[in-house]
Amino acid sequence: MRHKTLGMLCLGLLLVPSVEVTAAIRFVTIGTGGVTGVYYPTGGAISRMINAKRDEYGIRATVESTAGSVYNVNAVMAGDLDFGVVQSDRQFQAYNGTADWEDRPQKNLRAIFAIHPETVVIVAGADTGIRHVADLKGKVVNIGNPGSGQRGNAIDLLTASGLDFATDMRAEGLKAPESASLLQQGKLDAFFYTVGHPNGSVKEAVAGKRKVRFVNIPQKTIFDLAKRYPYYAPATIPVKMYPGVENLEDVKTFGVKATLCTSAEMSDEIVYAITREVFENLDAFKQLHPAYEVLTPESMLQGLSAPLHPGALKYYKEAGLLK
Ligand code: GLU
Repeated sequence: MRHKTLGMLCLGLLLVPSVEVTAAIRFVTIGTGGVTGVYYPTGGAISRMINAKRDEYGIRATVESTAGSVYNVNAVMAGDLDFGVVQSDRQFQAYNGTADWEDRPQKNLRAIFAIHPETVVIVAGADTGIRHVADLKGKVVNIGNPGSGQRGNAIDLLTASGLDFATDMRAEGLKAPESASLLQQGKLDAFFYTVGHPNGSVKEAVAGKRKVRFVNIPQKTIFDLAKRYPYYAPATIPVKMYPGVENLEDVKTFGVKATLCTSAEMSDEIVYAITREVFENLDAFKQLHPAYEVLTPESMLQGLSAPLHPGALKYYKEAGLLK
């Protein structure tokens, strides 16, 4: 009798884990950015929502810190990541075969939804005398690592301002989470970041001993960029988000949007589940980061240039957001 019970208990123990494993949990990865950016917590917010409904959806999402937008597009296209947070300009370029994807259009790239606005910020040591973009000449400037979204934005702005990043300054290609401390140590004069606000890296840069300021971009340059590239729009950085920065007025710059992308190969069912979960719980989602404050279901359908994934489209039709 005792043996029998023990035997059944053992059998039970053996069975429990195997039942869970056979319950067909699908594992998906979301590529984000540096841990001090907004992409990383964004991936975390999406995955937590979807994982909380594991019994309903059978999906387990995990988040990876990555080099950023360009890396994410390439990894999603190569099948190394299932989803990626990608700047809207990078989505446009990849799908249409320009910039980093010159003559290599990524026709399998699919859009799911847009998330928070991202603006191009140039953070400079106040003691460097950098007040305008032109003052970056001869300086040590982190324009962003290859694979990041900001690198291309920095190069576009510098080019539009008549500066060649390769010859007019010492351009560094460092990852965003390194920028703030290097600026504080005096090893960088300035750094570029394309990011949602407020965010950890810029806060870290502003909170140090070395005084810093954000560089205003002339209206004319912003308009020229927006005219030339359909994905750029004028934007401002509210200085109240960064107590300690030297600027007294909001800073004029330009921006893009963060978007969630995947491949045409991704299952409709999984994309539908993620889309539905975020849209049906948008109020809760918006509590997860201050950069999401401006999100509305409508704004989340703007800034997408790759075709919508069918799984997302199905939800938008059901919800009456699209016909
Ligand atoms: N926009 C940056 C990029 O595409 C990432 C910003 C973030 O991590 O929030 O590389």
